[in-house]
Amino acid sequence: MKSRYDIAIVGAGPAGMAAAAAAAGHGASVLLLDEQSEAGGQIYRAVSRQNFKDRNILGSDYYEGLDLVSELASSGAEHVTGATVWQVSPEREIGVSKDGTARMVTAGQVILATGAQERPFPVPGWTLPGVMTAGGAQSVLKSSALAAPDAVFAGSGPLLYLVAYQYMKAGIPVRAILDTTPRANALRALPHLPAALRSIGALMKGRRWIASLRAAGIPFIKHIEDLKLTGTDCVTGVEYRRGKRWRKIDAAQVFLHQGVVPDVNLAMAAGCAHRWSAAQLCWHAETDAWGETDIPGIAIAGDGAAIGGALAAEYLGRIAAHGALHRCGCLGRAERDSLAAPFRRALAGEMRLRPFLDALFRPPRRLRIPQGDATIVCRCEEVPAALIRESVALGCLGPNQLKSFSRCGMGPCQGRFCGLTVSEMIAEARGVGVAEVGALRLRPPVKPLMLEELAALAVEPVSMPGKR
Ligand SMILES: Cc1cc2nc3c(=O)[nH]c(=O)nc-3n(C[C@H](O)[C@H](O)[C@H](O)COP(=O)(O)OP(=O)(O)OC[C@H]3O[C@@H](n4cnc5c(N)ncnc54)[C@H](O)[C@@H]3O)c2cc1C
Repeated sequence: MKSRYDIAIVGAGPAGMAAAAAAAGHGASVLLLDEQSEAGGQIYRAVSRQNFKDRNILGSDYYEGLDLVSELASSGAEHVTGATVWQVSPEREIGVSKDGTARMVTAGQVILATGAQERPFPVPGWTLPGVMTAGGAQSVLKSSALAAPDAVFAGSGPLLYLVAYQYMKAGIPVRAILDTTPRANALRALPHLPAALRSIGALMKGRRWIASLRAAGIPFIKHIEDLKLTGTDCVTGVEYRRGKRWRKIDAAQVFLHQGVVPDVNLAMAAGCAHRWSAAQLCWHAETDAWGETDIPGIAIAGDGAAIGGALAAEYLGRIAAHGALHRCGCLGRAERDSLAAPFRRALAGEMRLRPFLDALFRPPRRLRIPQGDATIVCRCEEVPAALIRESVALGCLGPNQLKSFSRCGMGPCQGRFCGLTVSEMIAEARGVGVAEVGALRLRPPVKPLMLEELAALAVEPVSMPGKR
């Protein structure tokens, strides 16, 4: 790793890989950093060393990532694996930790392609051992071919059905799927159906997964309105409510999922402006047509800015790379515009389905905002919902004041898992919009960093005015 690059990209998912490959093709020095041990990001995790004999298990969409991985490998971009980025400053100084050593790298242009994370699912018992996210279950399946037989999948959204389908294809028994998609969402999604029908292939893919799961005899229980995970030392069952009636299903493993939201930690800690998206119920970075944020030289591409899916992420990565190449003087304006034009067209096609998906899989309020007082909201500091409501009653106005009331959001994840829940809870308790309440203010290091590493960082001596 050198100390300076023309363009540095954080995240080697579809957006970051495409951005790095596109940027390196135009003579810029390009650094791509990712904490994973190989390129791929979430969707294409471990694709280059996958050894499932049957490609149908993870599906053809997954193996499409191989083309991007080889494009990156031959592009000339320097890809550093196992590199955790804990800071990006507005001056584009990147704090990175690799193999127990921290260092600072500067770049003329930075593209954040940090992707998405799963939306919190704060229902009673969600912190019990044996409960994890469906995306987490998929990560271990892809990276280590490990799975948990007889798991209950609960929640809503394409990723939930996809992971259950991948389990089924791998021959791993699935106990049941408890679908929490609200009945009323179909009506809300209806106005977006004509546009979505133009992406009928993608739409039918999801229907095929569900039909196959049902045909395999896996119980698929729809319109679940409430959930509780039961057990003392670990999860032993799921209680679910349809209408007024509660039922129970035994389970030693539960996989929860209710959609993905942008991973905004690095961008927020850098100070990039964000706004609340009422459609996707999460924070979106304010970016221009090239992905550049309000901080000059820092752009965001892919799901890290707004959720669009893997193909949209790839196109946005290429568009952001062309923008960065222009800003650092490697591409003229006309060339930038004509090179980016095909990706803009492809992106527009890819985004046609999104409003329909957002409306159809909008998670219900009662599964986003804990109803009971005992439900843990901040997992790191074990802050229950009651303490947040009490703090608001005492005059706490937003998530940043809440830190001093409760330590909520001050643990190792820096509010990554509880931030959205906290903002929505405070907004509800105060009777105002989430935009007014704001987000947890994030500060570097956004990922855990050893004090030893920080102390060993070589720092230029500061010259003190008036001192010799
Ligand atoms: C758990 C999970 C599983 C998913 N599985 C699928 C799937 O199977 N199919 C599908 O269509 N969509 C899936 N998605 C949605 C999917 O993430 C996207 O549509 C697509 O991968 C987005 O691409 P991206 O390049 O924007 O980000 P990602 O693919 O998420 O890549 C982001 C990369 O940034 C890296 N990163 C983040 N922060 C840092 C940091 N501080 N330092 C260093 N590296 C960092 C991550 O390690 C990751 O490799 C999944 C999402 C999640 C959260």
